Amino acid sequence: MISLADTGLFSAEQLKVLSRLKVKDLRDLFYYLPRKYIDRSQKLDLRNSRAGDMVTVVGKIMHAEMKYAGRRRFTIKIEANGFIIYATFFNAGAYMQKQLLVGKEIACWGKLEVFRGRMSFMHPEWELISDEVTSPQHSGRIVPIYKITEAMRNAYLTVRSLREKIETCLTNYERRITDYIPQTNLQNLGLLGITEALHKVHFPQTMAETEEARRRMAFDELVLFSVLNEEKKLAIRQIDKKFRIVSHPDLKKELEDLISGLPFELTGDQQRAIGTLLKNSAATHPVNHLLMGDVGSGKTLVALILALVYMRHNLQVAYLAPTEILARQHYQTFLNILPKGSFEGVELLIGKDAAKDKRGKLERLSRGESLLAIGTHALIQDEVNFANLALIIIDEQHRFGVEQREKLRSKGETPDLLSMTATPIPRTLTLAYYGDLEPIYLREKPKNRLKIDTRVFQESELERIYKAVRKYVTQGRQVYIIYPVIDESENSDMASLMSEFSVLEKEVFPDLRLGLLHGRLSGDEKDRAMQKFKDGLIQVLVATTVVEVGIDVPNANVIVIRHPDRFGLSQLHQLRGRVGRGKHQSFCILVAPDRMTAEGEARLNAMVRTEDGFELAQVDFELRGAGEMTGLRQSGASEFHVADLRVHGPLLESAVEFLHQHPEVQRQFAGMKNIRQTLEKGLVLFGN
Ligand code: ADP
Ligand code: MG
Repeated sequence: MISLADTGLFSAEQLKVLSRLKVKDLRDLFYYLPRKYIDRSQKLDLRNSRAGDMVTVVGKIMHAEMKYAGRRRFTIKIEANGFIIYATFFNAGAYMQKQLLVGKEIACWGKLEVFRGRMSFMHPEWELISDEVTSPQHSGRIVPIYKITEAMRNAYLTVRSLREKIETCLTNYERRITDYIPQTNLQNLGLLGITEALHKVHFPQTMAETEEARRRMAFDELVLFSVLNEEKKLAIRQIDKKFRIVSHPDLKKELEDLISGLPFELTGDQQRAIGTLLKNSAATHPVNHLLMGDVGSGKTLVALILALVYMRHNLQVAYLAPTEILARQHYQTFLNILPKGSFEGVELLIGKDAAKDKRGKLERLSRGESLLAIGTHALIQDEVNFANLALIIIDEQHRFGVEQREKLRSKGETPDLLSMTATPIPRTLTLAYYGDLEPIYLREKPKNRLKIDTRVFQESELERIYKAVRKYVTQGRQVYIIYPVIDESENSDMASLMSEFSVLEKEVFPDLRLGLLHGRLSGDEKDRAMQKFKDGLIQVLVATTVVEVGIDVPNANVIVIRHPDRFGLSQLHQLRGRVGRGKHQSFCILVAPDRMTAEGEARLNAMVRTEDGFELAQVDFELRGAGEMTGLRQSGASEFHVADLRVHGPLLESAVEFLHQHPEVQRQFAGMKNIRQTLEKGLVLFGN
């Protein structure tokens, strides 16, 4: 690797500053990527811009002023294409005052706001580019902007000087850069070679070129990321599982009997999922599965059948559910599908067991007498011990953190894992976020399901909606009405559960049996309300999103959602999944408020357009990006520098494939502990 000092282009001071920023050699320098490009051919017309817009302005500083009113306020006035705009910085240091001088050319970008009646930026990002205009070779249409710190500037490293140095280095040393991707692969993948990409990322002629360059660099990042995933998988395969799952005729017969005894037929996907799970469980190493299936696709049954197989081997299973209601429901389902009296030792562990009961349960589990523990977070507590925990099932896995999963896992020696989720994520993201899990999909819905009729109504139409609710209840059906918040708040006129419940109870449906369900009720109260709803004693359940996850009441056929714009797309889809579970035509009624954000509207439209959770996940991803999607935040993939999965998602599959074709690349990058380390050290650019 060629150090920056060897190039002879940097002063001692500059080397010191750069090395503090971890830019020590040529590779680091080439990967000091522009943080932004400004396309000068695109003249911003501020007349068409409104407060709230994200804009970039390139212009001249006409005036600069520091005010001391309680705190320092530094304001500059910028003239750009004949428009005037202000940029204001609170608590600005003297540094800014020294840099942002009248006459300099500056690029500013951020959100437009109206401040003191003037079009303004508040604390925008900025870089000085005054030296750009005078220099012919830098006055192209596309101006890359580098992050320039105060220390860099003090060492005479400006946007322009940095770019000149990068250019010289690239010219002098590019012959020595080697590309780990062979030419034929570059062609097949439609990727730039690395030197071309470096040229285009630093000196683009068009915006399209910057994207081409980034695409190539994103690929590098995704390859490295996949190396890590492959390593994790390989490491798991090295582990010798402490137990063996084997298929034998008795067990096969029992499963067949059980399945044929069900009141319905398994879907093809359910059968395939069970087949795959059983086959993989026979491996000599632990297996980690992610079972992804839309709401109502029948995941519980798949999980319970798998659990039964382990239990028949005298191995223990822990089934973790996010809420007491769900834990109870799974417990009940399990007892229902088993032939009466055929099973002892299924324990339900929830927070509030009486001490005596709990002690008994814990003892039976730690002695290995009970084989299945279904429960909530209570399962994770230190006091819970198993004799031979062999399978962990996590329902609605996005509701649990990695630590909780690991804590539960540590209660066994080499347990298998089955994670389940009803918020499917786009396929590309599966690879990115769950690369070390084997995905299994339940796409097929049980045959008996009717399409849910989803409609958007206005708040002014509530009376009509209530009439429809009454009609279905009279026919014997049950209804959910969902609110985003429990209590009214001062600064919002949003309808809340508490304020509306009394209206519904006293005025709208005085003759119907209403129930209330929300997160502030005790576990007992919640369970009682839910049980009453299941038993049909409650006709209209007025609730918050406590009902969101997994509740199964086939007789309910209408769900009314107030302020649906306040919910995320996957949440809305989950809520809708509470109905359409029985044989009755079901309805999801979204009661839109008068004003909504564009994104809120887009979500409602998507809800009306499709019932496919996978498609909705894709829409959610496009609207909000991966970072905001449920449960993905804590994953390593958020550490990408260049790759944006919204844009480069499909490349991830190519990266995985490329690695499989090129085990030498896998070996070259092996041994890295995390993606950041890999990215910093891994990309070997230079031959000798
Ligand atoms: P989810 O995948 O959302 O967890 P559940 O496992 O709660 O779905 O199943 C929803 C409902 O569908 C339950 O009442 C379950 O008994 C029922 N069910 C499961 N599989 C089938 C099937 N193959 N045919 C009909 N109903 C099914
Ligand atoms: Mg479920």
